Amino acid sequence: MKIGIIGAGRVGATTAFCIAKEGIADEIVLIDVNNELAEGEAEDINQGLTLFPKETIVKAGDYKNLKDAKIIILTAGLRRKESETRLELINKNLLIIKDITDKLNPCKNSLILIVSNPVDIMTYLVLKRGGFKENYVFGLGTYLDTLRLFSILKRKKSKAKDAMVIGEHGDSMVFLSCKDKGIMDMVRDAGAWMIKYKQGTGWAVAMACLDVIRAIVFDEKRVFPLSSLVSNWYGVSGICISVPTMIGKDGIIGYPDIKLTKKEKERFLNSARIIKEEITRLNL
Ligand code: NAD
Repeated sequence: MKIGIIGAGRVGATTAFCIAKEGIADEIVLIDVNNELAEGEAEDINQGLTLFPKETIVKAGDYKNLKDAKIIILTAGLRRKESETRLELINKNLLIIKDITDKLNPCKNSLILIVSNPVDIMTYLVLKRGGFKENYVFGLGTYLDTLRLFSILKRKKSKAKDAMVIGEHGDSMVFLSCKDKGIMDMVRDAGAWMIKYKQGTGWAVAMACLDVIRAIVFDEKRVFPLSSLVSNWYGVSGICISVPTMIGKDGIIGYPDIKLTKKEKERFLNSARIIKEEITRLNL
């Protein structure tokens, strides 16, 4: 099975490493406007992979190499600066993602996982502009935020088993089964903290991608908070936003019912409104 990764920067390269080390793909194709970077990262990972029995081949490549890819992970774009919000990044990244979407035109049979920010907007853009099947395109959404929440709860030895983050992958994210303001603030600020300390995240986002890829490869039918085009989810339709989403070999299988409290619903509708306004403002 072939996996394409577009963008060989921090997220793309760490994701390639995590998937390759797991041995679940035959081939990973790394594509970047900076082809030397893609070549360098591919070679670096390959050299280490010789230590492992199930060897994945990692190659730098071009869009023509993606025609038979089962999954394409989109990580290209510019990183958020310390003073920048995710939504401010949009104008710079919009042009990049439009260009890449057009180049993915022959890849109608591939599942596409969007990581580039602002991820809810980019997922909508790829889906609408590319004309892909709705169940084939989904964004990493609030899965990284949910992992951040889990990691804090684990360290505090707290057992909030239904805890999850849904809504916008941004400041209006919605916490389910978590009422601790301190913890919510830590999760919301985690992206900015990462930018301050190491100019962006890499490992956690790569492991989040690996987890979603595993669910596809092994048809796990597991539920993740991913961003996709929703239809009447608590009254929200026609935008990409994170809600609990079941994933298997053909991408999105469905959206399991969950019960939101009145407050959670209000916050979810607010998050949806913010994404909708941005989509309208950008005329997407
Ligand atoms: P980075 O700067 O390290 O890497 C981005 C790469 O994209 C660069 O190597 C650049 O050359 C490449 N690129 C730019 N334009 C391109 C094009 N047209 N075609 C192919 N490649 C192109 O940035 P990063 O830290 O890897 O972050 C990448 C993206 O992922 C950003 O938008 C970031 O905000 C986002 N991100 C999302 C999440 C999430 O949870 N959704 C988490 C972390 C990062």
